[in-house]
Amino acid sequence: MDPIIRIDHVSFSYGEASARALDDVTLSVSPGDFLGIIGPSGAGKTTLASAMSGAIPHHYTGPFFGNVLVDGKDTCAVTLTDISQIVGSVLQDIDTQMVASVVEDEMLFGLENFGVPHSQIEERVIDALETVGIADLRDRTITSLSGGQKQKVAIASILALNPRVLVLDEPTAELDPASSVTVFDLLSRYAREHGTTVVVVEQKIALLSQYADMLVVVDEGRIRFADAPAQVLEHSDELKAIGVNCPRSTTLMNRLR
Ligand code: ADP
Repeated sequence: MDPIIRIDHVSFSYGEASARALDDVTLSVSPGDFLGIIGPSGAGKTTLASAMSGAIPHHYTGPFFGNVLVDGKDTCAVTLTDISQIVGSVLQDIDTQMVASVVEDEMLFGLENFGVPHSQIEERVIDALETVGIADLRDRTITSLSGGQKQKVAIASILALNPRVLVLDEPTAELDPASSVTVFDLLSRYAREHGTTVVVVEQKIALLSQYADMLVVVDEGRIRFADAPAQVLEHSDELKAIGVNCPRSTTLMNRLR
């Protein structure tokens, strides 16, 4: 099967004078895969996610080398609107993503912008809110929501658009451990049912390892490991050296070995 995302020797800097935020990155993501991106702060995780969502090179400009193909389309050769028909992204800074003042309007904005037929809109809104478990927030103003509730609204708004690829940048940053598990559960169930490819940037490696088919470890703009979670976790000493702390039990297991 052709990859849904293909990144081929990509390097990128935020402006001529900046160091490389991505440095010769090559990676393929198969349709339906659940990919987790981890790494220390400043490693290039968000930059990698932005290259997949088309924010790079369309929103952030700078020296860009190599190719990113999304469903076979070169992201440099098509518009951001074209890419967003395939890739739905939930940014780390939720407040910059929200455009409306009420939850329902936020969802309608995306659906209407995408030209979804009016006859389908109500069903899509209800389905997405229920999938994320926030049907009760539909009429709330966004400013009255907690950070975690806003994250869920942002996820529901994107799910309503039914993208083939979901890119989420730290979707559980504002959530407690139990709610983080709920979000990962719903994302993986949704992805299985819809055949959606999911890419998640996440700090919590133990959580990510339970859901991801593949973990990509980024450090200083380069990919250090890209493999199944169990294989990546075997490198706990190297991970620790770059600032990624593995679950205790894995560290212990590797030591015992
Ligand atoms: P991570 O998501 O792993 O924390 P980022 O992708 O945000 O890392 O950042 C990678 C590098 O790019 C860092 O050195 C960071 O300072 C730089 N960077 C990120 N965003 C910008 C930006 N908008 N302008 C300039 N430099 C940036």
